Amino acid sequence: MKRHTGQDRSVTKNWKPATLAVRGGTARSEWGETSEAMFLTSGYAYDCAGDAAARFAGEQAGMTYSRLQNPTVEMLEERIALLEGAEACRTMASGMAAMTAALLCQLSAGDHLVQGRAAFGSCRWLTDSLLPRFGIETTIVDARDPQQFIDAVRPNTKLFFFETPANPTMDVVDLKAVCAIARERGIRTVVDNAFATPALQRPMEFGADIVAYSATKMMDGQGRVLAGAVCGTAEFINDTLLPFTRNTGPTLSPFNAWVVMKGLETLDLRIRRQSENALKVGAFLEKRVAKINFPGLPSHPQHELAMSQMAACGPIFSFEVAGGRSQAHGLLDSLGLIDISNNIGDSRSLMTHPASTTHASVAEEKRLEMGVTEGMLRLNVGLEDPDDLIADLDQALGAVGL
Ligand SMILES: *Cc1c(COP(=O)(O)O)cnc(C)c1O
Repeated sequence: MKRHTGQDRSVTKNWKPATLAVRGGTARSEWGETSEAMFLTSGYAYDCAGDAAARFAGEQAGMTYSRLQNPTVEMLEERIALLEGAEACRTMASGMAAMTAALLCQLSAGDHLVQGRAAFGSCRWLTDSLLPRFGIETTIVDARDPQQFIDAVRPNTKLFFFETPANPTMDVVDLKAVCAIARERGIRTVVDNAFATPALQRPMEFGADIVAYSATKMMDGQGRVLAGAVCGTAEFINDTLLPFTRNTGPTLSPFNAWVVMKGLETLDLRIRRQSENALKVGAFLEKRVAKINFPGLPSHPQHELAMSQMAACGPIFSFEVAGGRSQAHGLLDSLGLIDISNNIGDSRSLMTHPASTTHASVAEEKRLEMGVTEGMLRLNVGLEDPDDLIADLDQALGAVGL
């Protein structure tokens, strides 16, 4: 592998995000390929036994085993780190592998964390069901109100863990305020930035310590692979995260890493167009449904806060119909263009009923505490013409009497 300028931080520090998205982290093989090579290999051969020993001892640069290092995966990791403005990044096999690793690598029995009420269903399962088995307690707060973080802090609080905007209620967290509250108290923040991605929001600029991703969503953006990533300081990644992931093995496949790398090349274009489309569709829906949760709309109570920390609103929002689950399911069943699907960040428009899908594993009273009602639907607005999407929604709403 030849060093390419994309791997040289003294060069990349002068590049703007659009350049980083297509060239950041690139390394080239002896063939000089323009599109990054896919290294589908589990192991590496050594010239002599001494080299193998030196590499295992960390005395010689080079790779030993793809659970630990892989050239294609490392190109993606450098690209995400550069886009995030982070010292380092490690990718994982899925977003949930990233969230699990980001938490478990640094928590021990007796620790406490504070989590935003609205969260991806499996993130709530981690803190509701998994961590308590290991003696780690969580206090759930309404993350829209920074004071609730202050009130929840205990002497053993180690982490604040939240999403902004959050899935699926679209709660927005004041990043600057909440990260400052954590810093003052020696608490680390873990921000799940899947909805915004570094193209729209860089939580570290507001003081976040660790930013974690489902790269399955906007980063791939075309509904092809699962992937995750964790960004942080080099010290955190190398000394805390890596010992955990190298030995437990939530490793991203080089094939999937390559697909996500291709996705990043168009991330900025996609997310901005999808944000524009979402605003058009949101403005239409606002007049037809009981409630819409979309920080991109000026009517949303957190619109100004969201737009002060995001470059655009993103493609995802939720809304509520008054007729509960039966009307929500009826609306889904009447769609002709928009797919019934629980993925998000895809270039296709997708709609789901969170209470019976993504958040079905969360107990009903917890769902209601999170704001996930029976009439809530979540929409990911894709790259189709927004007029076609509005026509589909118009007829589907009509079919259920709205
Ligand atoms: C999808 C999602 C996850 C989980 O990611 P996977 O790639 O599906 O494992 C975590 N957090 C948020 C906010 C998500 O949307």
